[in-house]
This record gives sequence, structure tokens and C-alpha cells, in this order.
Amino acid sequence: MVEQPDLDLVSHPVGQPAPAQELIPEQPTLPGLRDAAAGCQACDLYKTGTQTVFGEGAQHASVMFVGEQPGDREDIEGKPFVGPAGRLLDEALEAAGIDRKRVYITNAVKHFKWKPQGKRRLHQKPNAAEISACRPWLDAEIALIKPRILVLLGATAAQALLGRDFRVSLQRGQFIERPGLPLMMATVHPSSILRAPDDESREIEMQAFVQDLKRLAQRIKGS
Ligand code: SF4
Repeated sequence: MVEQPDLDLVSHPVGQPAPAQELIPEQPTLPGLRDAAAGCQACDLYKTGTQTVFGEGAQHASVMFVGEQPGDREDIEGKPFVGPAGRLLDEALEAAGIDRKRVYITNAVKHFKWKPQGKRRLHQKPNAAEISACRPWLDAEIALIKPRILVLLGATAAQALLGRDFRVSLQRGQFIERPGLPLMMATVHPSSILRAPDDESREIEMQAFVQDLKRLAQRIKGS
């Protein structure tokens, strides 16, 4: 179980936006959490994102995927992993024999952080304060879904749950236990595969990603 703060002990200065943990319903449901998160202003990213992009998927999924933050497409559609990185994730899940409809997919940070570059909105990495401000939503999703395995996609998600010293490049694909959290496995974020410099290296990185997901599929079957 993920520890939730005692709501009686937390408060915030009058006139300041409420921290995320104060917005979480006492008896959360997925729709209730989604509705509450829609009004979150616990960090400044609510000003840059069009809307809160909450997690989606099976209510009792045994696997929860955690990415970094919504991208441009996700921000517009209000759904996680529906852009190019989401399509690549779908392809890898299918290759590994995992049904996307049976997993839950979310992000460590629920608003899109970006800066303008010409007509484009250029992705900006969320900082430690933003990740921490958004953590209560992720913890609430984990507490509600109770997945057996958390798959951490990329450094932001991995460091949010495993600490800043964690290096995906050194420990990808390994199953990691931490008190109070489900079993975890970190791997790359699909967007890093899209950024590969050429077709050959993209193919190699995709194969490695699929291998990590196959290891996950075997673990689910075996548990
Ligand atoms: S990024 Fe998270 S903490 Fe910040 S405003 Fe959005 S939902 Fe709230």
C-alpha cells in the first residue's frame, strides 16, 4: 500500500492553490480522482497544459505503465500515450503479447510542459518540484489500481519512484523491490526510440524495448 498523508494534518496558506493531496477524495474512485485532478493547480504546469491528462486503462490492471508527462497530442486529446510515442508503445506491447486494454497507463506529471519554438510546442522536462507536486496523483492511482508491477518508462518516471541516483541505462529490464510499492521494472521511454538518429539504431532500440516487455509478460504469467 502507498502511504497517503493524513488529510487532517495538511493545510495550505489562504489564497494559495491547494496541494494535490488535499484534492484527493476521501474515498477515491478512478472517475472521482480524474475529476479532482482536472482542477489541480498544485504547480505552475496547469498554466502551460491545456488540460490535466489523467491515467487510463483497466481498473484492476496487474501492470501499470508510468511515463513522464503528456506530449503535444496527449495534451490536446486529454489522453495518455495517444501520440507518436503511444503508437510505438502499442506496437511494442503487441510484439510482446501484452494487451493494452488490460493495462493501466499514466504519467508521473499530468500536465504538458513545453516552450514555443516557431509554431511548435517543444517538450520541456519537468523539474523535481513539479514531479513532487504531482506525486500524490500517481500514488492515488497506484493505491486504487493496486498493480502487481509498475513499469517505469524513462528517467523521469524511474527517478520519481526509485530516486534521483537511479540510472535506467544501468538497470533497465531488472525487477526491483521497494517497501510500500509494487514490484517495479524500468525501461526506456518510447519517445527516446523515436529520437534515434537513424533507422538501424531505431530498430535495435525497439528490439531491446520489446525484449524488456517480453520479460515483463513472462513475469506476469509466472506470478
Ligand atoms: S502537473 Fe500535476 S501537480 Fe501540477 S498542476 Fe498538473 S496535475 Fe497538478
